[in-house]
Amino acid sequence: MDFDTISSISTPMGEGAIAIVRLSGPDAVTIADRLYKGKTALNDVQSHTINYGHIVDPVSGDIIEEVMVAVMRAPRTFTREDIVEINCHGGIMTVNRILELTLSNGARLAEPGEFTKRAFLNGRIDLSQAEGIMDFIRSKTDRASKVAMNQIEGRLSTMIKGLRQSILEILAQVEVNIDYPEYDDVEEATTQFLLSEARQIDSAIDGLLQTGAQGKILREGLSTVIIGKPNVGKSSMLNNLIQDNKAIVTEVAGTTRDVLEEYVNVRGVPLRLVDTAGIRETEDIVEKIGVERSREALKKADLILYVLNYNEPLTASDYQLAQLIKGEDVIVIINKTDLTQQLDLEEVQQMVGDVPMVQTSMLSQSGIDALEEEISRLFFQGEVAAQDMTYVSNARHISLLKQAKQAINDAMTAAESGVPIDIVQIDLIRTWELLGEVIGEEVSDSLIDQLFSQFCLGK
Ligand code: GDP
Ligand code: ZN
Repeated sequence: MDFDTISSISTPMGEGAIAIVRLSGPDAVTIADRLYKGKTALNDVQSHTINYGHIVDPVSGDIIEEVMVAVMRAPRTFTREDIVEINCHGGIMTVNRILELTLSNGARLAEPGEFTKRAFLNGRIDLSQAEGIMDFIRSKTDRASKVAMNQIEGRLSTMIKGLRQSILEILAQVEVNIDYPEYDDVEEATTQFLLSEARQIDSAIDGLLQTGAQGKILREGLSTVIIGKPNVGKSSMLNNLIQDNKAIVTEVAGTTRDVLEEYVNVRGVPLRLVDTAGIRETEDIVEKIGVERSREALKKADLILYVLNYNEPLTASDYQLAQLIKGEDVIVIINKTDLTQQLDLEEVQQMVGDVPMVQTSMLSQSGIDALEEEISRLFFQGEVAAQDMTYVSNARHISLLKQAKQAINDAMTAAESGVPIDIVQIDLIRTWELLGEVIGEEVSDSLIDQLFSQFCLGK
């Protein structure tokens, strides 16, 4: 494929001390060289070197900026084309000026996501890796970055490729059967082989889908509600969590009144404390919005933190709340353990059932670590497992995997009910194609364009 040379600012606007103008394409080095004054012309430097010099406007002769210029020649680059990165430390004006100079000297302004799109089109990365990069750019927390990184490294691709290989093996076996239809025992053996392989593929897809729920949480945050009677320490707990962790407050656009979302990063788990209808931290949820609406609101939450007072026996309203949160993901927090015990812990356990309990004192700030550990454990089953796991964190992947699961199940049902094997074959091929779509091997051009236009400019 023949491409022109593209250019854009590849660092976030107005953020960070260093800004990078990046060029990719056959004329990247030549164009940059027209603007560059240094010890050696960029056309003559070795590949994969960083060169100190100045950017000079070739028309006016003005010195624009002191720069470090990275020269990377194809094919060992991200796009598999020649890439030049001009690193400058100046503000937005200088960076824009340099970008304009690259454009007036032969480069074209890159479309959003075009660098990544080229990497994909030139075979450097597959589609799920490209999407991993997109998630990486958008990721809000360290752990979400790790998940995105794993995807970039192609873990998901590797698993999908393995599944597709198994399907090809089944299809090969089915071919044998179609070629020698006269042998009954071949047909029987093929069906058995097909069913056992298909079952494994089915459960592998299930495994990937199960990580989907966690993937979603990683990207969007765990919607979290804190409940409990007045004065048990809910506000104190919230403040402790915020103090102890990075909190990011964002505004949710498109709502009638401004809704604030607070992200608290607890050991890599972003808790999204949503303040809707006052249920984030409420003393009297039931009185405020009624039993049914409370139940609905609590059902929508991913995590409920239910706070009780160690210094007070259970009351009817504790039981009412416990009733509302039955079956949800709950952590019970027994607070004010610095005071004398009035609460019967066995009675609490009986009231809430089999949910984790943590004892804290928000006043003396003890037990907060244990609470954070519990939150982390609940969703990652420990830190180690999370880093090594592949998460399917993308709605398109999840939808394709669900369709693939349906197709492989159709194949199994057909095979079991004695449908001719060449009909079963159709479902197998469909499974193979759907899995291929996850890694971009069976996608139409328009889908590709749609995906890449979502990328941030300059990536
Ligand atoms: P909320 O009404 O549930 O939000 O409770 P607050 O966080 O506003 O706390 C109510 C009162 O209890 C405040 O005076 C807090 O200082 C106090 N408090 C909170 N946590 C503790 C604790 O662990 N021990 C003690 N002794 N007091 C606490
Ligand atoms: Zn409060």
